[in-house]
Amino acid sequence: MADAKTVGLDDVMQEVREYIHTPESLALIEKAANYAANHHAGQFRRSGEPYIIHLTNVAYILATMRVGPSTVAAGFLHDVIEDCGVSKEQLAKDFDPEIAELVESVTKVGKLPYKGKDEEEYQAANHRKIFIAMAKDVRVILIKLVDRLHNMRTLQYQPEASQKRIAAETLDVYAPIAHRLGLGEIKNELEDLCFYYLNRDEYYRIAHLVEAKKAERDAAVSQMISEISEMLTENHIAFRIFGRSKHLYSIYKKMVTKNKRFDQILDLLAIRIVTKTEQNCYEILGFIHAAYRPIPGRLKDYIAMPKMNMYQSLHTTIIGEEGRIFEVQIRTEEMDDIAERGVAAHWRYKEGTRYDARKEQKEIEDKLSWFKDFAVFTGENENESAAEYMETLQKDVFEANVYVMTPKGRVIDLPNGATPIDFAYRIHTDVGHTTVGAIVNNAMVPLNTALQTGDVVQVRTMKGTGPSEDWLKFVKTNQAKNKIRSYLAKKETESHQEKVELGEKILGDELKKRGFDLSYMEKKKLENIYSLFQVSNYIDFMYGIAVKSINPTSVVEKLTNQKRSLSDADALTKLLNRDTSKRRIISRTGLKAGGIDSMKLSLAQCCHPVYGDSITGFITKGEGVRVHRSDCPNVAGLKTRLIKVEWDEPDKDRIYDANLIILCRDRNFLLTDIVTVVSQCKTPIIQVNATVNREELTSTIKLSIQVHDLPQLQNLIANLQKVDSVLKVEREVH
Ligand code: MN
Repeated sequence: MADAKTVGLDDVMQEVREYIHTPESLALIEKAANYAANHHAGQFRRSGEPYIIHLTNVAYILATMRVGPSTVAAGFLHDVIEDCGVSKEQLAKDFDPEIAELVESVTKVGKLPYKGKDEEEYQAANHRKIFIAMAKDVRVILIKLVDRLHNMRTLQYQPEASQKRIAAETLDVYAPIAHRLGLGEIKNELEDLCFYYLNRDEYYRIAHLVEAKKAERDAAVSQMISEISEMLTENHIAFRIFGRSKHLYSIYKKMVTKNKRFDQILDLLAIRIVTKTEQNCYEILGFIHAAYRPIPGRLKDYIAMPKMNMYQSLHTTIIGEEGRIFEVQIRTEEMDDIAERGVAAHWRYKEGTRYDARKEQKEIEDKLSWFKDFAVFTGENENESAAEYMETLQKDVFEANVYVMTPKGRVIDLPNGATPIDFAYRIHTDVGHTTVGAIVNNAMVPLNTALQTGDVVQVRTMKGTGPSEDWLKFVKTNQAKNKIRSYLAKKETESHQEKVELGEKILGDELKKRGFDLSYMEKKKLENIYSLFQVSNYIDFMYGIAVKSINPTSVVEKLTNQKRSLSDADALTKLLNRDTSKRRIISRTGLKAGGIDSMKLSLAQCCHPVYGDSITGFITKGEGVRVHRSDCPNVAGLKTRLIKVEWDEPDKDRIYDANLIILCRDRNFLLTDIVTVVSQCKTPIIQVNATVNREELTSTIKLSIQVHDLPQLQNLIANLQKVDSVLKVEREVH
């Protein structure tokens, strides 16, 4: 490992002057440097160097990233609260509240007092702090990352146990953050440093193998570079081309995760072409594919579909001379900049514009679509244990590798195997809870469909519905799992509570009816009889009464030590009779016919009458009366065996199946529009069937739905007829 480059204040100022020119800003940075030097005077690092060296290096790296003056100043000051006992208030007075806030946040991040509790939980709590700080202000994390980078560069002076602990934490937390923020260079350097400290044998083994093959590989790469250069020059395209070496840790990781031999990985030679415009990128790709054989399935267009960390590039793999395989990346200068410096490239300090931390933070959130999810996700659920939080984050944010889109083009990242339900919960908790259907790439799909990268996903929601327990069997994200579980738990508590109240009411009524007062319901009195009913507490007892596993009459007998008197029995009978006479008997089908038991009436399956249709009954042989729509062709010619039937009183709980046939001119998004109309009419869909007639360019869509009555069905039909390119809507009759 090479020693870190030693830089001084002059180097920092020279770097800063490259992009900062206002005298006040330059003075601020120099003031911070002197302030740090004064306060840290007499302090030394383990290397024996004065402490200020660390601060100068941090400020220097920050300046190379082109961060704003406050951030560079905070780089110098980042340890004064912790190591010099300067208070935040003092810092605010000596500088300004913004810098004080930055320094305090950096100090707090990842510095929990170790209390000897469970190591894992401690680590998790520590990491969570880092993420919470990051969600608030990305600058805090930039400083923290650079601080960690310099500490990693000088890790050789730490005792071995600390080396391992710090390296493990860096690999677990800081490298993934750097990756997510698109800080490719920092991420690679951190990973290689960690690799060196965590697995030195493997590090050296791979380093030596790379070195041994270097000459041969370099020759092959430069051969390819000259061939491509010649070709692009002939075609007058501006470009920069160079070979790139993979960092050691990425080679190691591929060997482990993809189970490949070293030579298989190293045989991949890598070339990058940087050009002017997006158009040029595709042109270059065209020339290369024309000249060399591309390996199928390896072309990745991250220009059309950027990665979550804003990364854009074209990737392809081609076969060169002697069957050598080359990975080629093609991108513009700007894309290259973002690939190397990510968020920092976007954040590059622009002089003359008034700096506004909150505005910048918002811009970052808009640019990095995952960041917003992440910030929301980090803010909610404070009660979640730190270990759970880390697990969720690991799974839902860091391991995300399916990228799908909303119809508006917002990219949502999900773990492998995630379903439309996971997607819905990522959009919003309420969207998740009320999801009833999913449309992926314009086709309705089951809710447990595994989404693929590039899918355009839309979910259908319906107010008043809730998640089903079955969802837990297939959702992949912890976020969705937790939301579903807490919804179901809440529902259960609510219904439990309702039942307990119902039990109280039943018992109270029973007591009143029998002439006893409610003092019998005091908990102390009830406690004495729990055991007689095999329960141990009040809630179970009342619940039992509500669900009728405990008979309230015998409870009253036990409570009052009285057998039921004759008059009570009479009263009871009367009450029951009164109840019966009042209870409406609603038939199952909603039909009635003079003198016929409603159980003998059934709805015909050919024409599916719904409540309100004009109907007629047909007396079958041995299967009662089948009720058809009056205009059903199956009963049209009949004179005999028909009987008059009527609809019974309306009942909002009854639903009727109905089948619609929709004839349309075929077009894109047709099915989506139709399904939208149906769900807007609050009508559940049981089945959808679509067939396309390629010759006539028409399609026929069959919808099986459920309605309460004829007006609802007629309304739906009227609305469907208004959908663009719908030609005809009719009810199906077989
Ligand atoms: Mn530090």
